[in-house]
Amino acid sequence: MSARLVIPRPSLVVLCGPAGSGKSTFARRHFPATAIVSSDRCRAMIGDDEANIRVSPQAFELFHFIIELRLRDRRLTVADSTALRAEARRDLEGIAKRYGVPAVLIVFNVSEARALAHNTRRKRRVARPVIEQQWERLQEALQTVHEEGFDRVYILGEDEVGGATIELTPAAGARAATRPPWKRPPRDGRG
Ligand code: ATP
Ligand code: MG
Repeated sequence: MSARLVIPRPSLVVLCGPAGSGKSTFARRHFPATAIVSSDRCRAMIGDDEANIRVSPQAFELFHFIIELRLRDRRLTVADSTALRAEARRDLEGIAKRYGVPAVLIVFNVSEARALAHNTRRKRRVARPVIEQQWERLQEALQTVHEEGFDRVYILGEDEVGGATIELTPAAGARAATRPPWKRPPRDGRG
């Protein structure tokens, strides 16, 4: 049976999985390009290279900043990063809370062999030990993700990733977002 993922709109969809687990491919297949905020892309925008880890702190500032601006405007947003550390997931879940939108976690529970195989098939390759370490972190994440405060958690096995379908539903009970100043109604008494 294929996995059916119910995603409230707006919400923050947090992808979680090692390099080569298929996160960006999945995001491109299911969500509009403008909804996807990629930490790799942020790294490239600042440091000219998706693999430039020297600029990672700034790249994550930008990553979080874009996500915040989109959620403030109540736009469905997909956070495309590995999100394998509990702290990284907590930051993202905290941003969603702050803007009153649900946070949905999608975990790409692929085998180490599958992640390594995908990795060799593409242009930007990640070093094997990095993927091995990320896969260990995935095992840790699988133990805790259900208790981390996400509104929904979907764990996709490697044979479910390709056939998964997404159903967008209006977010129920989401608090009104804090509107940015340029979206506030005029205070001139006209109504
Ligand atoms: P990273 O964390 O490094 O950005 P990623 O999780 O985003 O990795 P992708 O870039 O989506 O991984 O996928 C890595 C490679 O695997 C790509 O070449 C992609 O074409 C291939 N791939 C991804 N998903 C599938 C799939 N379901 N079936 C076959 N190949 C796939
Ligand atoms: Mg990617």
